[in-house]
Amino acid sequence: NAGLGSWPERRLRISPHKPAIWFEGTTTTHGEFAHRVRRAASALDALGVRRGDRVAWFGANHPTALELLYACGQLGAIWVPVNARLTAPEAQYVLEHSGASLVVHGREHGTTSDVLRAELPEVRAWVSAEPPLAGGAESLDWQQLLADAEPVLRDEAVALEDPCLIMYTSGTTGRPKGAVLTHGNMTWSCINQILGFDFTPDERTLGLAPLFHIGGLNGTLNPTLLRGGCVVLVRGFDPPATLATIAEQRVTSFFAVPTMLDALSRQPDFGTLDLSALRTIGAAGAPLPLPLLHTWLDRGITVQQAYGMTESAPAGTALDSADAVAKVGSAGKSQFFVDVRVVRPDGSECDPGEIGEVVLSGPNIMAGYWNAPEATAAAIVDGWYHSGDAGSTDEDGYLYIRDRYKDMIISGGENVYPAEIESALLELPEVVEAAVIGIPDEKWGEVGLAVVVPAPGSAEDPEAIRAALRRRLAGFKVPRHVEFVDELPKTATGKIRKPDLRTRFPTTQE
Ligand code: ATP
Ligand code: MG
Repeated sequence: NAGLGSWPERRLRISPHKPAIWFEGTTTTHGEFAHRVRRAASALDALGVRRGDRVAWFGANHPTALELLYACGQLGAIWVPVNARLTAPEAQYVLEHSGASLVVHGREHGTTSDVLRAELPEVRAWVSAEPPLAGGAESLDWQQLLADAEPVLRDEAVALEDPCLIMYTSGTTGRPKGAVLTHGNMTWSCINQILGFDFTPDERTLGLAPLFHIGGLNGTLNPTLLRGGCVVLVRGFDPPATLATIAEQRVTSFFAVPTMLDALSRQPDFGTLDLSALRTIGAAGAPLPLPLLHTWLDRGITVQQAYGMTESAPAGTALDSADAVAKVGSAGKSQFFVDVRVVRPDGSECDPGEIGEVVLSGPNIMAGYWNAPEATAAAIVDGWYHSGDAGSTDEDGYLYIRDRYKDMIISGGENVYPAEIESALLELPEVVEAAVIGIPDEKWGEVGLAVVVPAPGSAEDPEAIRAALRRRLAGFKVPRHVEFVDELPKTATGKIRKPDLRTRFPTTQE
């Protein structure tokens, strides 16, 4: 077994007594974790799970999710994490699309499981990780199943080419796509992350981002476990509690999307808490506004911007910690075992400074999208994964991500990248959050509309905002319209959902 399923066994041999998972005050060692994974594999086997079967995890962050992932890896079964925030019909789509035959859910999904059980007769068993908060009376009890199972090692022949999991993309731009990631994809990406973020055997990484998101799962957690460090796992993102945990648990690293970093830095005790153990933060998933980056750097904390996606498990580029200040704003260079390029529509490589599409190739690129050969063929061309993201490199080869092409605004023939405008908006004291979208315009084709969450007590004055932007940006980039809202729509991974804004603001309301 060359896959993820063999990792706990290797750790059992090398460092059985070191902490592996801290969760709500309880620490599990690597040795104990290996035994729980053995029991989990036995329990799944007894429930009829066979090689290639899909086993879904539907819940907030919980150690059970990791036990299941690694146990599936021992059996050659395929783990399918389902976004915990999905409604019953949305979850039903993912469970049907992936063909899950077993669903393990968190305590918060007892009632949902009751609803879905009737809709999904193909699911052989429903299991609850913990006593459900409501409903779920018919679900089996995972803790009991584990207690009854034998901790025998099942070493099925699992190859690096075999599928390890199906991870659905964030759904930022449309319906989520199921990226099939093999054991090899996961392993190579982990090695890339260990090299890019200098993970150590004494790492205490915060499991903050959802485990159904690749950044949370394979950006920091799996690399830390592989390296022999400890995962400080939290159920979800609760800014004040999360910041307190970072301090109390002497967290050394974590991964976050920019909106999470923003929320943490707005906590009243951000400036005073003892964050001295915090070595580095990996930030990726969406454009990282410069003012936000400086907030953390000024606090003496290294932020390594990285660039990646579900389809690359997620390694792509990462900024070395040594470059964090000198190359501020860059997402760094290609990670060790992956090649990232910026290309023109004809596939030739762009010159420094020239904007093109970012493409990636390497052993970490997904096998394809589950049951979607056309989408796979459109995404992977001649071995290169086409990201749909616009970027450029500087003279030294450092990558700067502009934005998604889907979000780019073409105004009077000029390409406008909303991320740049959003970054400028966030520098204004009257702005808490901002998103810029294009709306149709007779004269210019498209013009920008800034959707702004105003700072408490500030005047909601579109002209003042436009005037302030005019001092920072070329005229054609300044959004023609400004709308004020109480909050922005976000995905479960904390990304701003621009399709929802486009539906809400199809044209200007002014
Ligand atoms: P979907 O594909 O379902 O629309 P998604 O693309 O948001 O959702 P993910 O795979 O979680 O799903 O995110 C990858 C995307 O996040 C990248 O393609 C890119 O657009 C964006 N991204 C990642 N890192 C960065 C970064 N450092 N700067 C800007 N954007 C980034
Ligand atoms: Mg995507």
